[in-house]
Amino acid sequence: ELILAFETSCDETSVAVIESGRQILSNIIATQIKSHQRFGGVVPEVASRHHVEQILHCTDLALTEAQVGYEDLSAIAVTYGPGLVGSLLIGISAAKALAYAHHLPLLPINHLAGHIYAAQLVKPLVYPFMALVVSGGHTELVLVSAPNQFELLGETRDDAAGEAYDKIGRVLGINYPAGKEVDRLAHLGRDTFKFPRAMIDEDNFDFSFSGLKSAFINRVHHASQIGETLAREDLAASFQASVGEVLVTKTMHALAQYPVEQLVIAGGVAANQGLREMMSANLATNFPEIELIVPPLRLCGDNAAMIGAAAQVSLDTGAPAADLTLNADPSLDLVRY
Ligand code: ATP
Ligand code: MG
Ligand code: FE
Repeated sequence: ELILAFETSCDETSVAVIESGRQILSNIIATQIKSHQRFGGVVPEVASRHHVEQILHCTDLALTEAQVGYEDLSAIAVTYGPGLVGSLLIGISAAKALAYAHHLPLLPINHLAGHIYAAQLVKPLVYPFMALVVSGGHTELVLVSAPNQFELLGETRDDAAGEAYDKIGRVLGINYPAGKEVDRLAHLGRDTFKFPRAMIDEDNFDFSFSGLKSAFINRVHHASQIGETLAREDLAASFQASVGEVLVTKTMHALAQYPVEQLVIAGGVAANQGLREMMSANLATNFPEIELIVPPLRLCGDNAAMIGAAAQVSLDTGAPAADLTLNADPSLDLVRY
């Protein structure tokens, strides 16, 4: 079965063709980062306009690269939330028009399910499995008990992990999105600042990163006030050590309580080298029988291949197709999906 998938929830215009939910025939990703960087974040109006300009071209490229035509497709899939409403609507409109024109079922896909099912493009998933979703807007521990059945064990009470990376990165003078560069710097420094590890000993699966962000910013401001120079590498390493330790510790607690065979790390922050290393070392020590699945870098950030992978799960579980009244759902979550 071939699925044509669309992802336009934020600042990447992406179109992919996926075979059987497992094989990527094409995965075109047009990023708009350069247009947003000078504003220090994503500007919704600018994002929507770029999606309009890019989407048909990306669609043509995706079909050409996959060497398939509309007559070969089984369905068209599109992210309908969560994300920026104006951005989501561009993908939804394109998907609706093509599904209508070519008499294909239209599958509405949750962006976070997409991040999780990116792992399916790496390895067949075995239920139940645990997923740590760490992205620009979300930080959640999710037990996936069956196909498309998500149990939210805990989530951040304030900033998302990726958001915290971007905010402290700005203080270090790094362009948006800062995660990748903070990660690189962190590997050149040491955890000398010992920033707080919020909620690490609490008996729940929730997270908090705003205190860490404040501690970081206060430390840097204090230094500049007294004319002290701090090593950026050590600041980055200390921040990353705190984020990683909290994420890994909470994940280990969840694994102790919910027996699974696989752990998936999903979302943009899953690209973090420090987190990957720390998680794999802790898993090897505490749960050597559990398999760690982390998608390759290109599948961690926003892309349509992951939406195609999630769409195959919808097809397999007989989820109903959407009609042309499908609307964007900017604050969609995994539990309502
Ligand atoms: P959501 O998926 O929650 O709707 P989003 O789609 O904007 O939000 P993603 O595209 O999944 O988020 O991830 C982007 C985030 O990942 C950014 O905050 C970015 O800084 C972060 N990120 C990317 N690479 C790394 C890295 N190596 N280390 C840490 N963070 C990273
Ligand atoms: Mg993005
Ligand atoms: Fe995302």
